[in-house]
Amino acid sequence: MQRYKYLIVGGGMSADAAVRGIRELDTEGPIGLVGEESHPPYARPPLSKKLWRGAPLESVWRGTQDLEVTLHAGRRAVGLDTVRREVRDDRGETYGFERLLLATGVTPRRLPFGAEDLVYFRTLDDYRRVRALADEGRRFAVLGGGFIGAELAAALASSGCRVTMLFPEQGIGSRIFPAGLSSSLGDAYRERGVVVWAGETVAAMRRDRSGLVLRTRSGRDVPADAVVAGIGVIPNTELADRADLPVNDGIVVDELLRAGHPDVFAAGDVASFHSVVLGRRMRVEHEDNALATGRQAGRNMAGAAEPYTHLPFFYSDLFDSGYEAVGEVDNRLSTVEHWQEPYRKGVVYYLRDGAVRGVLLWNVWDQVDAARRLIAEPRTWRAAELRERLPERP
Ligand SMILES: Cc1cc2nc3c(=O)[nH]c(=O)nc-3n(C[C@H](O)[C@H](O)[C@H](O)COP(=O)(O)OP(=O)(O)OC[C@H]3O[C@@H](n4cnc5c(N)ncnc54)[C@H](O)[C@@H]3O)c2cc1C
Repeated sequence: MQRYKYLIVGGGMSADAAVRGIRELDTEGPIGLVGEESHPPYARPPLSKKLWRGAPLESVWRGTQDLEVTLHAGRRAVGLDTVRREVRDDRGETYGFERLLLATGVTPRRLPFGAEDLVYFRTLDDYRRVRALADEGRRFAVLGGGFIGAELAAALASSGCRVTMLFPEQGIGSRIFPAGLSSSLGDAYRERGVVVWAGETVAAMRRDRSGLVLRTRSGRDVPADAVVAGIGVIPNTELADRADLPVNDGIVVDELLRAGHPDVFAAGDVASFHSVVLGRRMRVEHEDNALATGRQAGRNMAGAAEPYTHLPFFYSDLFDSGYEAVGEVDNRLSTVEHWQEPYRKGVVYYLRDGAVRGVLLWNVWDQVDAARRLIAEPRTWRAAELRERLPERP
């Protein structure tokens, strides 16, 4: 059995950030990292963005190995004993720890059909598979109009592929964007040749001589050579479940990111934390949170005892538009929209009972901290007051 002062399960972005957090305070303590993928930690956002615009594949690596870490790649942790302080992997190897971090991320939701013909886009290997198909100029069906579906459809269409999008919602990103913005985004996709079927889901898939055929619930047949899905994710909580750690839509952590045990921590997409600013529990599936919780968990594993108070932001690029968003960006809240150019450049404020809970910055840059300050202000706002707030003048 190998023993580590710090053991990290999950070889993703949060795991890498945790290694860096530990090394800020402890340059020597042995760190072991057990990760299911065969690769060292890498950045996921480029898989649906930069790599399609010509960035080299090597640009995704995080360089975790340079930080005195023993990497156990291609190993899935399947057992956790918090009393003996041991983790067991799928080959029967055990790893002892003094402090443990669970940074196991999420797994894509699956459909009850399609099996091998469907790519659930999440990993570097998924990117390689889809890229090889795209380079052959295939016809793609993209299932899902949320974050991943929207980015992938844009990346594939920009690479010259024929793309059909299918999703059950009213419009692209309509769970977070106001109706006008979502509708204008749909027009932008159609102008670039994407066929957009909103309000439509796939009921079955079959293969015929010309390729795959997707049968929709309304009875439409959509032909494709390849099908990529981004239809949501499920947090990887199995290890925590088995060890009786608290789980409720993610591994429940306290303000120090401890998962119901003084020496077991959780971070990244899998962790459910209490947001000090928003006054509610949340689980965030985005980079800034993965990096910030990872770093903080790492520092706390190394003895810092600092609470996690960060309000994370997220971002995306869709053709020639981009956005950054902070807080509760949820279309069920009331919104105030302020467009400098209609649906091209502007700010959307999301309010509950008059208080700002979230801000969407559409092609508006360098305003994330100002948006955080606005959300933290303990007051209510009238629509006219908000129109003057962002962008903040330097
Ligand atoms: C294609 C794509 C594009 C994205 N673009 C953006 C973006 O533009 N902006 C943004 O803010 N966010 C983006 N994200 C989200 C961001 O990448 C995630 O929030 C981040 O990767 C989460 O980091 P994590 O370490 O928690 O999980 P992950 O990076 O998913 O890493 C978890 C790792 O743990 C491994 N693992 C799971 N269970 C076990 C186990 N039992 N044993 C061993 N290993 C295990 C998994 O195989 C995986 O490698 C994107 C995500 C994807 C997939």
